[in-house]
Amino acid sequence: MRDPCAIDQPTCISFSGGRTSAYMLWRLLQANGGLPADAVACFANTGKEVEATLRFVRDCAEHWHVPIHWLEYRPDAPGLAVVDFATASREGEPFEALIRKRQYLPNPVARGCTVSLKVRTMHKFVRALGWTEWDQFIGIRADEQRRVVKIRARGHSTESVSETMCMPLAEAGVTVHDVTAFWQAQPFDLELRTVNGRTLEGNCDLCFLKPRGQRLALIKARPEAAVWWIRMESLNLASKPSGARFRADGPSYADLARFAADQRDLFDGADEPIACFCGD
Ligand code: SF4
Repeated sequence: MRDPCAIDQPTCISFSGGRTSAYMLWRLLQANGGLPADAVACFANTGKEVEATLRFVRDCAEHWHVPIHWLEYRPDAPGLAVVDFATASREGEPFEALIRKRQYLPNPVARGCTVSLKVRTMHKFVRALGWTEWDQFIGIRADEQRRVVKIRARGHSTESVSETMCMPLAEAGVTVHDVTAFWQAQPFDLELRTVNGRTLEGNCDLCFLKPRGQRLALIKARPEAAVWWIRMESLNLASKPSGARFRADGPSYADLARFAADQRDLFDGADEPIACFCGD
């Protein structure tokens, strides 16, 4: 049987900055004796990742001696910028630029942010390398069955038929327990806590797809995190001149910030997030 971690054609390894995709990168390095010449590892920064995530991406590159390309969305041609740990956006600049260009706020129905900030940004990067077809390795585990089934059924990206989606961890039967055990044995780790296998502050800090109770708990722990989200909801956008919300079916971020200031423990560990493809 073919090793799901073997790389034998142009391959883009999507590193979200979480433990699972970092583990995938490590497995790929082991299986291929390092990073093959026609493979690239990419981290697409939205500007709303917490600092610990940025440090973790940097640390993986340094500990494993692997180049990781830090990419950011830009609204004007060529549509992306290559940055690094020192120059990466930390104030949501790429995300805000997308919102201003599109003139609407992403929401659970018309998400757009994952695709524009991450998926298409990586596509632009590899196309600039001259690639016309490639494998896209993503860090989805065997225990994430809903996502596995959906991606397998599609086979390629929603954005490009040139890209074949590969889930080496799912193919190898890797579960969250394997990933946790791996990181417990490493000399460095992502400095973000997990609850029931979920990294609460992973991806964009207050992503609107995170459960409301989780966002409240995060705002309570770090009230300043809400400021950017509140500001985005107060923008005068063509789609909603008087302001819009990331979640029409819930409170605004300004309301969440008020609730968080008033209440004590609001995190409901059983509350389920909406699945997104930003990855862990
Ligand atoms: S983490 Fe959430 S807000 Fe950020 S790009 Fe992904 S879906 Fe959008």
